[in-house]
Amino acid sequence: MDNQKILKLKDFSEDIDEAEVVDIIVAIDESISMHDSVLTLETNKTSVDLGCPFNGEIKEIFINIGDKIDENTNLVAIEVTEISVDASTTALSSELEAELVVIGGGPAGYTAAFRAADLGVKTILIDKYPELGGTCLNNGCIPSKFLLHIVSGIHNAKHLSEYGVKFDEPFIDLRRMMQAKDSVINTLNSGLRSLSNKRNINVIHGTASFSDNNLITVKSNEGSNKINFTKAIIATGSAPRKIDSISIEDPRILYSEQALNIQCVPNKLLVVGGGVIGLELSSVFHGLGSNVTVIEATSSFLSMLDEDIVAPLIRKYQETFNSLMTDTLLDEVQVTSSGLAVRLMQDRNVINTNFDAILIATGREPITQDLNLDVINVDTDDYGYIDVNDCYCTSVENIYAIGDVIGNPMLAHKGSKEGRIVAEICAGHRKASDKATMPFVVYTDPEIAWVGLTESSAGNEIDVVKSPWLSNGRALTQDSSYGLTKLLVDRETGKIVGGGLVGPNVGEMISEITLAIENQLTVKDLSKMIHPHPTVSETIAMCAEKYLKEAVEILNQ
Ligand code: FAD
Repeated sequence: MDNQKILKLKDFSEDIDEAEVVDIIVAIDESISMHDSVLTLETNKTSVDLGCPFNGEIKEIFINIGDKIDENTNLVAIEVTEISVDASTTALSSELEAELVVIGGGPAGYTAAFRAADLGVKTILIDKYPELGGTCLNNGCIPSKFLLHIVSGIHNAKHLSEYGVKFDEPFIDLRRMMQAKDSVINTLNSGLRSLSNKRNINVIHGTASFSDNNLITVKSNEGSNKINFTKAIIATGSAPRKIDSISIEDPRILYSEQALNIQCVPNKLLVVGGGVIGLELSSVFHGLGSNVTVIEATSSFLSMLDEDIVAPLIRKYQETFNSLMTDTLLDEVQVTSSGLAVRLMQDRNVINTNFDAILIATGREPITQDLNLDVINVDTDDYGYIDVNDCYCTSVENIYAIGDVIGNPMLAHKGSKEGRIVAEICAGHRKASDKATMPFVVYTDPEIAWVGLTESSAGNEIDVVKSPWLSNGRALTQDSSYGLTKLLVDRETGKIVGGGLVGPNVGEMISEITLAIENQLTVKDLSKMIHPHPTVSETIAMCAEKYLKEAVEILNQ
């Protein structure tokens, strides 16, 4: 009993002095590792998980869900088995050994580290950011989807007025919204922390650079570590690309990270770049009340997709945004007393105008600057992306690279798939990667999703079959009759080789077409499957039946 400790708030965090208990994650007699979540608290700012400061066993729980606690409250009693201190602080100025080092704790890197550890490989995971999750969790997929969820609520509430249900204009408490967003991020951060601890992965927070082919140095404010490694995986991700000609720095010139952490909603916003990130964030700002102009350098938005799939989105943006401009470049920005004076070039025409803020979303570039790649002779392409072979091996045989840092498509699920495969390769469980079908989703309103071939990229050997949502019951109930489902079918074999969707939540529907392509299913297979009614997924079955001329809800031609 000597090792039993009664823990209070200060044992977990210096920052919280009172809170409400919203969840008790542990149970009596349960073993717990350092950093594992013990309780979830709601403070006046956010909700937070308290991570255990020791390895041990829970002996007593003094509080209940709903209790208000302060610095004097006894929370739990723990029998301490080992005071294992966080690797990031113990190992300073020390020399460590690892079979595998993963640089970058985003979806590519943490997946690789977790899978490798599960396969028995002694793994160290390094990230310069204080939490795991990378761009996706901290500054990308998750915060953007949280904000899109909010604006879709605002939009739906407004829309209901057409059906006789009226709400007042929304009052937007941006601070509370950002806290709620951060709370989602914190929950997922603490999940990753707990999962890496449970796998005994040594997580080090600092900036990694290669000293040679078997030695990495990690520097942080606290000092530096040297790690001798057998294999390394680079998963350092990407960062927003800047526009060379726009050199001024001003807090009103935003990139995605700042846009996701804004403290006030700009009145007039210019979004530069009509790609996925630019259009998603345009939706967020428009929903929060900004008057949005989007400019795109090329002649169309989302040009990699078929026009008919993109058209409903562009139509809606044209109706509701201030302006959508193609073939337009941002040429100059000047800070004036009234905002940002902007010069745009459209063909040869000059447009001078003013905005309160500018969001630059002109693509992303690989993060390799700290790695010392030239010291170890890792080759990169002309744009700086790391070159890899089919096994994600770089030009150096014990060093691999995955995720955004090796280039397109820059997607979290692509990175995590690569992480899983490369970990299995490093652990000797597989020799090569396999080709997987990659679904894409643009989380705008309406959403767009596609997988496999597009009509514009496919050759002549395919047939295209479309099912507009005009007569789909569910689509009519949710005012999305503008939606469209299309399938691309190999004419000779009847196999599904591609598919595209536009409409609400189609990101959830694309997996059916992905599964069909992945498993080489035919239109016949899809037509056999029963789709629940009423759902918009019935339009997939409708495409298949239409193709086979077996449809009953429309006339077969
Ligand atoms: P990252 O997630 O960028 O992680 C790389 C990590 O490496 C970072 O944590 C960084 O701190 C660390 N690092 C870099 N250099 C070093 C170093 N020298 N030493 C130590 N650590 C280092 N994708 C989707 O699939 N769906 C979406 O909905 C989606 N939405 C997005 C929205 C936005 C606004 C943005 C910006 C991106 C979005 N993405 C989305 C893309 C997705 O975030 C990335 O594809 C994904 O995060 C890439 O994962 P990664 O592991 O390769 O790199």
